[in-house]
Amino acid sequence: MRLRNIPGAREKIAENEWSIKEPEQYKGKWNEVFGNDNPIRIEVGMGKGRFIMTLAQMNPDVNYIGIEKYSSVMLRGLQKQEELQLPNIRFIRMEAEVLTEVFGKGEIDRIYLNFSDPWPKDRHAKRRLPSREFLHRYDEILKKDGVVEFKTDNTDLFAFALEEVEPAGWHLDQVTHDLHNDPVMNEGNVMTEYEEKFSSMGNPICKYVVSR
Ligand code: SAM
Repeated sequence: MRLRNIPGAREKIAENEWSIKEPEQYKGKWNEVFGNDNPIRIEVGMGKGRFIMTLAQMNPDVNYIGIEKYSSVMLRGLQKQEELQLPNIRFIRMEAEVLTEVFGKGEIDRIYLNFSDPWPKDRHAKRRLPSREFLHRYDEILKKDGVVEFKTDNTDLFAFALEEVEPAGWHLDQVTHDLHNDPVMNEGNVMTEYEEKFSSMGNPICKYVVSR
């Protein structure tokens, strides 16, 4: 998601009480940030953050961290959080490539990937968030029974993601190529901004849940 660059966005994020500066210093002690031992779930590439903020409102006993690389995009989420003041959510502006520098072994309960950038050129496959390179990173930070949930309307990216599961040593727990017409997997589904946009255009939504 690229929004028009908002002048001063980076500075506004740095000043914001809900965004975590120098997140590496909390590696292995994120529960101290939240002041409790509740599970921590992250969305990698949260965009404007509507999905993860909705989850945080629905589940006050779960902690959430939204991760986004672009300041102008993340700022929209922070502005919403200024209104909502949800105690169980924080935000980090960072590239997902450094996840293992920020979270300790087994510290994360669940990882959400929603409508991740497709990086269509073969030579960029390693940058795709459901690639085996990223699954190895998720492996390091997820707790024993932790899962990754991935949604997209991009059938090429989804086919790639499915092919990556076994070589990375993961298992496919659940899969659908038409989430909104799958009564089991769609139960409790929270739509993301992109999901709403693409499903309203008639695109079926694919989803998997994977674990190790
Ligand atoms: N998840 C949101 C949704 O479903 O509405 C936004 C989807 S948008 C297509 C993908 C977002 O992921 C963009 O905002 C992009 O900046 C972010 N992103 C992509 N690669 C990333 C990375 N390596 N680290 C952090 N954020 C990333």
